Amino acid sequence: MRLRLPRERPTSPPRGFKLANPVLSEDCGRIGFTGVSIGGAQPYGVFDEARCMYGRRHRCPALRCDCGFYCLHTFAEALALARVGTHRRAAILEVTVLGAYIRFERGMRYARQRVRVARIGPCGCGLPPEVFVDAGWGRTGWRALAGACKGCAAGRGEVSFEDFVRIGGGRLRVLPGHREGPAEAAADPGGAARGVPEPAAEAGVMQARLDRLQGQLGRLTGGT
Ligand SMILES: [Zn+2]
Ligand SMILES: [Zn+2]
Repeated sequence: MRLRLPRERPTSPPRGFKLANPVLSEDCGRIGFTGVSIGGAQPYGVFDEARCMYGRRHRCPALRCDCGFYCLHTFAEALALARVGTHRRAAILEVTVLGAYIRFERGMRYARQRVRVARIGPCGCGLPPEVFVDAGWGRTGWRALAGACKGCAAGRGEVSFEDFVRIGGGRLRVLPGHREGPAEAAADPGGAARGVPEPAAEAGVMQARLDRLQGQLGRLTGGT
């Protein structure tokens, strides 16, 4: 007996939410995002395809691997993660999930994505962000950006939200702060994070464990 996941045929691509840090290439010619958990070493673009982070030659999301993009189903869950410890200043991305995906209780692991909206985290002083400044760290060829208010940004290398969008090809929306848009607010009145337990681990790692469990179940039941 093979363990088979139910097949879904959505009429439109699923939507998801995730945390990421905005990045700008050293030559200022490209923008991207880098994840806050596994796979965070490799920045991805506004539209991008997942590559196996272990360098294995299979398509993501492979069942026996934990590679691929990850997202959570709801803005509220992403916001709850953003309020935990070190992720307060990360951006909350709204993405369209494209290609093959594996659905979990709280999120998805999948092949391709388009970033539609980036909600930029608050300035270190707590005020809403107005521009990007150099976050003080980076990846090879990339520097990370953080949202800052005009006052705190003074004298530091600024990148406007408009320039970030333009460099990214113009189809991305950048919004200040971790607020939900009207559509999500209507669907979830009375507070985004209410009722969401604070996760002990990052969603990506948790989902990777779930996936391993699923793989083990497949072996136990004779699946391939
Ligand atoms: Zn893989
Ligand atoms: Zn500030």
